[in-house]
Amino acid sequence: MTAPALLKFTSTNGQSPAVDLKDALLRGQAPDQGLYMPESFPRLTPARFEAFREMEYPRIAFEVLREYTRGIVEEDLLLELCEDAYNYAVPLENVYDRVHVMRLDRGPTASFKDFAARMMARLIGHFLRRDGRELTILTATSGDTGSAVASAFHGIEGIRVCVLFPTGEVSARQRKQMTTLGGNVRTIAIDGKFDDCQAMVKRAFADPELGSIPLSSANSINIGRLLPQSVYYVYAWSRLTKGNEPIVIVTPSGNFGNMMGAIFAREMGMPVKRLVVPVNENDEFPKFLATNTYAKIAPSLACVSNAMNVGHPSNLARLVSLYGGHIDETGKVHKLPDLAAMRRDLFSTSVTDDATRATIKEAWEQHRLLLEPHGAVGWRGFLDYIATEPLGNSPAVVIETAHPAKFPEEIERLLQIEPDTPPALARLDDLDESYDRLAADYDAFRDYLRARYT
Ligand SMILES: *Cc1c(COP(=O)(O)O)cnc(C)c1O
Repeated sequence: MTAPALLKFTSTNGQSPAVDLKDALLRGQAPDQGLYMPESFPRLTPARFEAFREMEYPRIAFEVLREYTRGIVEEDLLLELCEDAYNYAVPLENVYDRVHVMRLDRGPTASFKDFAARMMARLIGHFLRRDGRELTILTATSGDTGSAVASAFHGIEGIRVCVLFPTGEVSARQRKQMTTLGGNVRTIAIDGKFDDCQAMVKRAFADPELGSIPLSSANSINIGRLLPQSVYYVYAWSRLTKGNEPIVIVTPSGNFGNMMGAIFAREMGMPVKRLVVPVNENDEFPKFLATNTYAKIAPSLACVSNAMNVGHPSNLARLVSLYGGHIDETGKVHKLPDLAAMRRDLFSTSVTDDATRATIKEAWEQHRLLLEPHGAVGWRGFLDYIATEPLGNSPAVVIETAHPAKFPEEIERLLQIEPDTPPALARLDDLDESYDRLAADYDAFRDYLRARYT
């Protein structure tokens, strides 16, 4: 028997050699600063898609992911990892007719980022164990990413996690999601801003004096975060469609990692009618679609849907490459993509903060649909879309990316109700916190890493 051909991953900048999934996962970014994309997409037959209707979530995750891990991760093990990672509900809430909201907020940190982080952590942990290696994950966070990453890697053998957060910019609950874990997770409160934290982490990656500590970033550009994000779209399609019916997907977007999951599912053969990608007031993408000219927004605007405050979406490089163009990490367009094709497949609008708040109110009053600001940008974008292209009897799914209880003040003020706190967040109140404090000073941070990780 010959070994199956391994799927290769190439860089969107085209200057780095193709690698297999393991190298792409452990590296994160390609050496030429581009992002890894599969050289070609595995295609599933309509019969395979039909079979998903009878499968539970972890099994669908296994069926989708094994197309990328074949020859690299044994199938029995992959199935175990999927069952271990996806042990929580994925509710599809009917709003009206065939329109549903999919709540991706039942994981341990109540954000959709759990779906990706939990699988990536398990895959990286597996590779390290097999090779007898250790890795330190270094990450800076303004709130949600750090907690999803820390929670996902918590207790995984071979991995140590160090999270930096800006002391004053993180809510108490967000902080507790990181500082109550203990074990292999260390958190440092930096007396500074998020940008200071990010600059310190970036310097550490490039610092030859830290060369003896194997570091990795686990940030949102890692291909290991994207692949698991295609699974919930396949799951929604399997529950909401009949036969070979295409679905309308609505994904509120910032760095475009979540929406790329839908694109990956489509490239694997899932029928998609339209992918709607609303953004907040950081409107560089809808402007690009409308005008063929890309201009990043720097600094990004601070909106209520704060996890989507992105003025230059890193995953745009992947989207553009898929449509035949080339944009680099700085936002420079070297070759325009096929924008006419992009406009056929995608619909994007910008939603202001006023409209976001009004939508939280309207959705509740009209449908008893409880949304937090990110989901409200999604719902508003959906309404904008069906105003230009009637939905008819098509099925549609709007993604809610965080739990409303993560934004209690906003919701109480607008709706005069208190959202129920999910158990994962409620238990934080009783746990002890432990974290270190440092000034926004790189030398102090280097000494800290040297003392603890060599
Ligand atoms: C990260 C995040 C987003 C944006 O997702 P992208 O993949 O960056 O587009 C939206 N909502 C919430 C709650 C998030 O944490």
